[in-house]
Amino acid sequence: MEKETTKCLIIGSGPAGYTAAIYAGRANLCPVLYEGLQPGGQLTTTTDVENFPGYPEGISGTALMEDLRAQATRFGTDIRYGIATAADLSKRPYQITIDDEKVIETETLIIATGATAKYLGLPDEQKYAGMGVSACATCDGFFYRKKVVAVVGGGDTACEEALYLAGLASKVYLIVRKSYLRASKIMQQRVMENENIVILFNHNAVGLYGENGVEGVHLLENVAGVEKRYDLPIDGFFLAIGHKPNSDIFKPYIETDEVGYIITEPDSPRTCVPGVFAAGDVADPHYRQAITAAGSGCKAAIEAERYLSELGLLKSV
Ligand SMILES: Cc1cc2nc3c(=O)[nH]c(=O)nc-3n(C[C@H](O)[C@H](O)[C@H](O)COP(=O)(O)OP(=O)(O)OC[C@H]3O[C@@H](n4cnc5c(N)ncnc54)[C@H](O)[C@@H]3O)c2cc1C
Repeated sequence: MEKETTKCLIIGSGPAGYTAAIYAGRANLCPVLYEGLQPGGQLTTTTDVENFPGYPEGISGTALMEDLRAQATRFGTDIRYGIATAADLSKRPYQITIDDEKVIETETLIIATGATAKYLGLPDEQKYAGMGVSACATCDGFFYRKKVVAVVGGGDTACEEALYLAGLASKVYLIVRKSYLRASKIMQQRVMENENIVILFNHNAVGLYGENGVEGVHLLENVAGVEKRYDLPIDGFFLAIGHKPNSDIFKPYIETDEVGYIITEPDSPRTCVPGVFAAGDVADPHYRQAITAAGSGCKAAIEAERYLSELGLLKSV
């Protein structure tokens, strides 16, 4: 298999990957970045981003990511199309296989592969993507002020999202498949005490409807085998049934939690493997925002530079 060597390899082209590339490029690490299946990352699937600092009028997700890409290119990042398909982090230099056909040997690795929100799998979720369907209340809740929304899920995240939205929307329906919430007792209590939240136990969302965006959800209620179908008018439909961190190929070497989020040292992108750093959503079960991803990408690149410097490997870059 073809082999190539680099000092700093970045996997992923979301805000974390590109920001790491900007810092690594300016530190003269000559980074190589592989974009993966979704060049620009998750933000390329949304319309306006209103909470990324520096854009008082907001900016389209795609334009923001094009700007970040251009900035990374300006400082010498070698940005390539390709997917990391295997990893060997058992010893330095670490080996990453790209598209099953090429191996990159690298002294430092920045994993910025993101996390993918889980959806129910309804065709309507695709149909109304960006038109009333969201998997991020912090990102999109603002667009539903004084409107009626539904949140799907019964765990801590769903309760958190419902509580966040309850501060903005006029009413929040929490659609729960089971007859109970899986969330912690304290979250359950907060949700149940909130007057803006109505919990629909034993309910499944089976479809969405609306002319130019979501206007309602088709529901199926099932209590002890007795089924009832009805429609509930809503303006926004929020999924909160979990995320899948894109960490599978690294798991044999790197510590993750039970969901697959990469565990790093507190307040640091350092993983349990020296010289391997994780940035952005792949290591963040809590915030999952573009700005937090960018911030951790910055930290990862600074750590990579320090690591190479300590090993005396910077001179030959
Ligand atoms: C619809 C939507 C709207 C959002 N709106 C906002 C918002 O308004 N404000 C906000 O702050 N946040 C928003 N977010 C959240 C934000 O997009 C994420 O927090 C952020 O993109 C995370 O950045 P990241 O760099 O960690 O990963 P991602 O953006 O997820 O990028 C991951 C990258 O890794 C690549 N990759 C994955 N696996 C591999 C592999 N094996 N090999 C190579 N590359 C790989 C992918 O191709 C992708 O480029 C939104 C998210 C969604 C889905």
